[in-house]
Amino acid sequence: MKTLYGLMTDTGSGNEFLYDLGLWETEEAAAKYLNNEMPNSTGIWVEAIVVNDALPNDLDDNTDEMAVCSQCGVEYNKADLTTINDEEVCIYCEPAVRQNMPG
Ligand SMILES: [Zn+2]
Repeated sequence: MKTLYGLMTDTGSGNEFLYDLGLWETEEAAAKYLNNEMPNSTGIWVEAIVVNDALPNDLDDNTDEMAVCSQCGVEYNKADLTTINDEEVCIYCEPAVRQNMPG
């Protein structure tokens, strides 16, 4: 979570956040935009807003580790690969690899 600053206006029926205009890292930047872009506007003010800034990657803690099949070169979830003779092998290549194993 982090705090950003945006512009708020009173629509008459309640306060409304003007998301379309943007969000700023600092209150000063938001105020500067308001002064520069809408110098004649009234009833608009800078308001702090707390947003969830988590990156999509951070939301998924269960990201599967990927590995490449040593036989066909296709990338799979590591959990889907079998290790044969210290090489990662996918389920499609596994039968052939096992057939070629000595003994
Ligand atoms: Zn394979």
